Amino acid sequence: MDIERAWDEYVATVSELETLGSIEGLLAWDQQVNLPVGGGANRARQAALISRTRHLRLTDPRLGELLEILSEAELGPVQSASVRVMNRQYRRATRVSAELVAAFTHAQAEGFQQWISARQHADFSLFAPSLKRLLELTIEQAQAIDSTRSVYDVQLDIFDPGTNTAALREMFESLHQGLLPLLDAIQGQTPIEQHGTIFSVEGQRSLNLAVVEAFGLDLSSGRLDYSEHPFTVGLGQGDVRITTRLDTHSLMAGLSATMHETGHALYEQGLPRATWQGTGLAQAASLGLHESQSRFWENYIGRSRAFMEWLGSIAPVHLGSKAPDADLLFQMANRVHAGAIRIHADEVSYNLHIIARFELELGMMSGDIEVDSLPEAWNEKYRKMLGVQPHGVTAGLLQDVHWAHGMFGYFPSYTLGNLYAASLASKLKEEMPTHMESVQKGEFSDILIWLREQIHSHGRLMEAPELMRSVVGEGYSVEHLLDHLWDRHGGLYGVQRPASD
Ligand SMILES: [Zn+2]
Repeated sequence: MDIERAWDEYVATVSELETLGSIEGLLAWDQQVNLPVGGGANRARQAALISRTRHLRLTDPRLGELLEILSEAELGPVQSASVRVMNRQYRRATRVSAELVAAFTHAQAEGFQQWISARQHADFSLFAPSLKRLLELTIEQAQAIDSTRSVYDVQLDIFDPGTNTAALREMFESLHQGLLPLLDAIQGQTPIEQHGTIFSVEGQRSLNLAVVEAFGLDLSSGRLDYSEHPFTVGLGQGDVRITTRLDTHSLMAGLSATMHETGHALYEQGLPRATWQGTGLAQAASLGLHESQSRFWENYIGRSRAFMEWLGSIAPVHLGSKAPDADLLFQMANRVHAGAIRIHADEVSYNLHIIARFELELGMMSGDIEVDSLPEAWNEKYRKMLGVQPHGVTAGLLQDVHWAHGMFGYFPSYTLGNLYAASLASKLKEEMPTHMESVQKGEFSDILIWLREQIHSHGRLMEAPELMRSVVGEGYSVEHLLDHLWDRHGGLYGVQRPASD
């Protein structure tokens, strides 16, 4: 068979896989945004059927043959990257039976419904059976994929290929040790009080939308909706959707969620979908890299002094005369206060929430922590790590949707994202020293263009650490993040990083 014909057949197959994937995404988006409660069981069947169909296509021996023919041919860089990425997916998928995939998808849909119900009734026991089932299936799946490695390592491969449990333990340890002196120094200063003004949902909606548009999200190829747990989904060319959640009592809570999801969506909109359709490469290089884009906009830009100058200038148009000024916005966004909720956390204590989840997940995987005793284990971890006691299970272990989707091993990607974002920001400072002056004027297009060139346009051509090395010269560094946090929060609280010995 000639290579050109093999390539055309391969692209047609991968293109169909991409379309099936986007239908899965659409069903999931609809479930979280529109689906009536009564439709849950039917949605679980729909999602299971699409997922089974996609799995059958992905494991079709004909795709295996095409991959073999192409692997032996001389290919260009895009073609060979495509074959590398699809080979990995094919090998991974052929080791998991279609029945197991369908069981997992069904459990995910049920898990999500039970999680909603458990949150409404503040009763973990309503979610516990689903969580146990999802854990069992995750372990079964990981062992089918690679029984020689730990379940957690196999899980990490899904989200951030190239990292492993041991490397993460070490990274989290050095980050934890680096954060403690900053937290101590801040705790020795006068606390910044929370600002109690209530802002209407309508006013906040229009302010949030203004920020989304200023950052550069193309709403003719995207949507902004509202859901219990904010998320982003790229549904293919010209269709990237984000959701957010607003809180009348906390302007920053809604804004930071919106900016976070906008960062994800800008990455999705910058992927070369039209040119690379059917290659599997028009995707984020890893979820950690995806999180770096959300964190870059949410934190590095969205909590900066320069951004607050601009936000303060437009806020009265949307919020009226009670709108906070730049000083107050900067304080509200960067006030360090250890709390129980991850998505409301300040930049300094945020990673402690991730370390807690990482350790709890490892405990669940190894069987050291039983699902039934998880509420106690959670509270104990939070007492130790953050010195707080969540008020009830909804503000505790039911706060995140990830486990309801069976996404064990995802949380470390958030910290990897923070580290990548800090490295990118330090590179941007070097290459575009005046970029914060543009931010202050509400001009973000040069920054977006830079991210498009450095990260977005490369899709999955390289693995995330390789791509980061090509941009900043290193995979990730705890030091850039610590520098950034000392710089911003040290300035706000009037504390300085002690000189290292
Ligand atoms: Zn995110």
